[in-house]
Amino acid sequence: MKQMLRHLPAIHELQQDQRFAKLEEKWSKAKATEWVQEAVAELRKELLEETWVQSNDIIDFVDEIFMRVSERLSEHSMKRLQRVINGTGTVLHTNLGRARLGERATLQVAQTAQSYSNLEYNLIEGKRGSRHDLIEGIVKEITGAEAAMVVNNNAAAVYLILKALAKEKEVIVSRGELVEIGGSFRVSSIMEESGAHLIEVGTTNKTHQSDYEQAINENTAMIMKVHTSNFKIIGFTKEIPASELKHVTEQHKVILYEDLGSGAIYDLRQDGIGNEPTVSEALMHADIVSFSGDKLLGGPQVGMIAGKKDLIDKLKKHQLARVLRVDKMTLAALEATLSEYRDLDKAKTTIPTLKAILLTKEEVRARIALFKPKIPASFLSEIIDGTSQVGGGTMPEVELDTCLLKLNHQSIKSHEIQEQLRKGSPAVVGRIQEDALLFDFRTIDEAEFADLEARLQEFAN
Ligand SMILES: *Cc1c(COP(=O)(O)O)cnc(C)c1O
Repeated sequence: MKQMLRHLPAIHELQQDQRFAKLEEKWSKAKATEWVQEAVAELRKELLEETWVQSNDIIDFVDEIFMRVSERLSEHSMKRLQRVINGTGTVLHTNLGRARLGERATLQVAQTAQSYSNLEYNLIEGKRGSRHDLIEGIVKEITGAEAAMVVNNNAAAVYLILKALAKEKEVIVSRGELVEIGGSFRVSSIMEESGAHLIEVGTTNKTHQSDYEQAINENTAMIMKVHTSNFKIIGFTKEIPASELKHVTEQHKVILYEDLGSGAIYDLRQDGIGNEPTVSEALMHADIVSFSGDKLLGGPQVGMIAGKKDLIDKLKKHQLARVLRVDKMTLAALEATLSEYRDLDKAKTTIPTLKAILLTKEEVRARIALFKPKIPASFLSEIIDGTSQVGGGTMPEVELDTCLLKLNHQSIKSHEIQEQLRKGSPAVVGRIQEDALLFDFRTIDEAEFADLEARLQEFAN
């Protein structure tokens, strides 16, 4: 193998190749040269170590080198943030960016990004304003809260609340609610980080009112309820709802804080889906609540905080509020999303998250039927029944009836198709079951049909 080293082309020869010209056109001569040099060096090393495996369709080293460069470039581009067609049916897919924004929110983001805005300018009075004011009004309007503010995400909201309202004080939490969310969010860790002292009460499956009462002392700042959205204990369980804890916290003058996790504004229970309380409901008992913007709310990644004005005022004044604040594009997306909720019936169709969750099985079937004629004949296709998940740790016990497009290629294995679909553009992610590719059209819009079709055409014969 070592004697083949002398057949390795020189860089200046490679630079004469048409493929080099293409690279140079798209990037720059320096960059293209660097990539070619890297590929040559890699090949040289393999020849020296005798680890090079020649593939059948490679005629000479020049081909091999340009193939390596193009592979590297495509891997490079896959590491960039890019669009994915989500065929998993999981509406709030944690790995795929959770909620997708609606049309108005998307437009609002683009406009705000391009222009100056009244981010911190009061247009009525012609003087400095506060970015909190931009959304506080609408949050108050749709949730009935006395006051509200926004931070980077719900984890940040929890942190700020504990730090500003309970630092060096005790916070009582039921053991049954000390869960880990999304693999990285642990109430106990955030609590430790904030300087608040965690007082665990009850057992994993049962916590009684008396457990809370006995733990309260002059150092207690708050009772915290955590909505255990991604975790469910079945069987002999007891949790005290915030509605009952309200008497305890009022009597002892401590704060009742509820981390709602999802934060539903639209009540999905009326459609028979899940058992998620709404934010306004939670605010009837809790002094302060926090929830994510990109879960059931269907907006951008933010942490929403709502509740009593004196508490929110303290949070707004805290130094951390500045550290955890959100940018103007996020605020634009949030404001547009929240305003959709002024008309709950319309929100069901304008907020993509709600729309996807509320799609009936028959509606999903109709979507697939519309797409079916576009599938290349090399696939065997079938519509089958299945279930989808809400995702994002929200309503884990809920299974939404759905329809799936089941595809089998006449000659190519499903996992190979899956890999190629994942690596192309736009990337397509589906499920595999018993060597068939499954696409849940709950999360594939008609607007994505043309792209999905183009990707499937890659396997047309
Ligand atoms: C999801 C969740 C969080 C974390 O929210 P992020 O927006 O991901 O930071 C915190 N608490 C609960 C109960 C949750 O469900």
